Amino acid sequence: MSGRESWQVVGHAEAVAQLQRAIAADHVGHAYLFAGPDGVGKTTVALEFARALMCLRRDDGYPCGECDSCRRIWRDGDRRTHPDLTVADVEWQATMLGSRAGGARQRLSIDAIRWLRQDIVSRPILSRWKVQIVDDAGRLSDTAPDAFLKTVEEPPPFAVIILVTPSIEAVPETIRSRCRHIEFGPVSRLAIEAELTRRSIDADTAATVASVARGRVATALELASDPDSLDRWNADVAEAFGYISEPLGRLRLAGPLAANHTKNRDHTFQVLEHCAGLWRDALLAQAGVDDAAAYPEMRDAIQRFSGQFSTAEIAEALRATRRAAHDLDRNFQARIALMAMINRWPTLAD
Ligand SMILES: [Zn+2]
Repeated sequence: MSGRESWQVVGHAEAVAQLQRAIAADHVGHAYLFAGPDGVGKTTVALEFARALMCLRRDDGYPCGECDSCRRIWRDGDRRTHPDLTVADVEWQATMLGSRAGGARQRLSIDAIRWLRQDIVSRPILSRWKVQIVDDAGRLSDTAPDAFLKTVEEPPPFAVIILVTPSIEAVPETIRSRCRHIEFGPVSRLAIEAELTRRSIDADTAATVASVARGRVATALELASDPDSLDRWNADVAEAFGYISEPLGRLRLAGPLAANHTKNRDHTFQVLEHCAGLWRDALLAQAGVDDAAAYPEMRDAIQRFSGQFSTAEIAEALRATRRAAHDLDRNFQARIALMAMINRWPTLAD
């Protein structure tokens, strides 16, 4: 056999080993559900799975990296030109179907699902397998899951469909039950730091970025590649801390931030994520385990802040924050969702 390449994945050793074994044992499932937080590398693992699966020279779970199939599956943002692989995300939908709907958080439409359904039944051209990676599969538009179900129920023998989702509950049970599940957790700080160092990022930046990225490889790579983005990140964290810790901040949260939500959804989600992370750090500070803190640079401020509340109050604030992000994701009115969240946050001491 020809040379073999390891999978280009940071962390997730268990998931990778499991998928490699499935290929080597010729026991590949037809539908997979990859679930875990955004940015931890689910789609990367899916692409590497596809590469190993579709390789023309090897069938032991490792890609050769040299054959026509391997070379057509590019990573790191390069164009993919493999005729038997589709990565269905909103960008693909816009190019493929000329979807006019704007915004980064739009959903895969019923037309997109119909396209995938027709595509998956035609035989692969280059490889033995045909692979569809459906990104953000929990965010299909309303009627799409039913249309999709038919494909997942009876996939052709050469088909592998990988549904990628941040939340397993977002995928309807009827679809879930037909998939093999693989859970993805955050990647360890050390693994991310090692990857950044391997990419010639200097040691100090690598350590800082690895700690603020909180297990998200994509975030770490983004922060490390653009010096300004780390500053913006720090500014967002400071803004979020103002929202949770200052009376005026809470007013701004329910006022201007809510009002701007439709224009700048990504910012609201980013801010809520930081708020949740800061509440979580407050819990850790109370428990005295702040070496797991997401924002070590905020340690002293969070220590002082957390002292005025009970553990139960902070836990409730964390739940309320996650709830608000969930509600906004389901297009609840921003002001109402954010007000409900603030009302469940503990009252600040004067
Ligand atoms: Zn190959």
